Amino acid sequence: MKVKVYRGTEEIGGTCIELTASNGKILWIDLGTPLDTKNPNVDYARNKLDALLISHPHKDHVGLMEMVGKNVPIYIGELSLDLINATKIFIGEAPLDGDFKLIKPWNEFIIADTFKVKTFLTDHSTPESFSFLIEVDGKRVMYSGDFRATGRKKMLYDILIKKPPENIDLLFLEGTMVERENHKYATEESVEQAIYDVIRNQDNISFVISSAQNVDRLVSVLRACKRTNKYLVIDIYTAFILDMVRKQSKSIPVIEWEEIKVYEHPSQLKKIINDKSFDEFRERISKQRIGDAVFNSPSKYVYFVRCPNEKLIEKLRDNGTINIIYSQWDGYLKKEHQQYFTDTINKLKDESGISFQIIHTSGHATVPDLIKFAKAIDSKKLVPIHTAYPEKFKIAFEKEGFENIVLWEDGKEYEV
Ligand SMILES: [Zn+2]
Ligand SMILES: [Zn+2]
Repeated sequence: MKVKVYRGTEEIGGTCIELTASNGKILWIDLGTPLDTKNPNVDYARNKLDALLISHPHKDHVGLMEMVGKNVPIYIGELSLDLINATKIFIGEAPLDGDFKLIKPWNEFIIADTFKVKTFLTDHSTPESFSFLIEVDGKRVMYSGDFRATGRKKMLYDILIKKPPENIDLLFLEGTMVERENHKYATEESVEQAIYDVIRNQDNISFVISSAQNVDRLVSVLRACKRTNKYLVIDIYTAFILDMVRKQSKSIPVIEWEEIKVYEHPSQLKKIINDKSFDEFRERISKQRIGDAVFNSPSKYVYFVRCPNEKLIEKLRDNGTINIIYSQWDGYLKKEHQQYFTDTINKLKDESGISFQIIHTSGHATVPDLIKFAKAIDSKKLVPIHTAYPEKFKIAFEKEGFENIVLWEDGKEYEV
């Protein structure tokens, strides 16, 4: 088999790997949008392939997937597809159109009569994320995807380490954390505890800034709210995400829970107001609506948002200190990774009457957790991917006795 990484050997995001079998069949794993602006060329996304396999619905892994066209089968988790389409609904775009083959955790299937694939569910900052074992031409390739060992699904990491797949010829292992600071908060539980400590004595409203699709985080905030008798306020989009995730897992909160309130964001409501298929959903969120209740006793509420509402902050300012808890990657606060909320949050964080804190843990494995993972898999070759510092990755692993670390170049084909 020939293997090529179009993108990912020296950057985080934009991941795309190509496997070419000896019979000429071509399989790609992930087709993400680059997060880095230094190499915007994505012409490779128009190359010929027989199928695309998607690990999880983060943009840096799926962002360019529509470029393969409608005739190429795309193997993707049902929840991943639901989550991508949920975003499309609320930004007013048509749902994805393509030849989707829905895949499930812990399943085995054959792609293009050639590639034998096994899926492993992993612990990551999105509710459905896979590692893959791919067998072709008598060789076994493992792709870790994005994962961690410190989230609410950490048990998945332990299971894989305890009973790892054997005889792996090549392991692609993500290395996001090689260059990122170790966080003050090591686990999802420590994030929950820190949020609890902030909100339990609040004399005004709190905002937690995170992604609606980071359901682990939403659950952490909800648990902190339960423990402090606060209401968690979510928007319509987040309520819809919860519904999607609950289709796959019954342990996920429902919007009917008494500690959940829904803020009927007008622009979000507009997106579903005329769609009959949302009739029941609209009725359900309407029963949970917060309305003006926040103005009577703001200290009872914690808003889970992408960006705090400045008008709401203005109206509530006189009630006491407003907490803004930033609970996602702090890179988004910097110019290089500017998002639509970056300026607003940077402005608010320095204002008087606002207490700003960063309480976050990464969706990616720490270097010691990566090393434990790599030791368990014990592959003949290990190629770092999804890292901006492959050299550092190699040094860190060689210090631990690894002799199988090989650094590849983007766009170059290797025989496995
Ligand atoms: Zn990623
Ligand atoms: Zn990811």
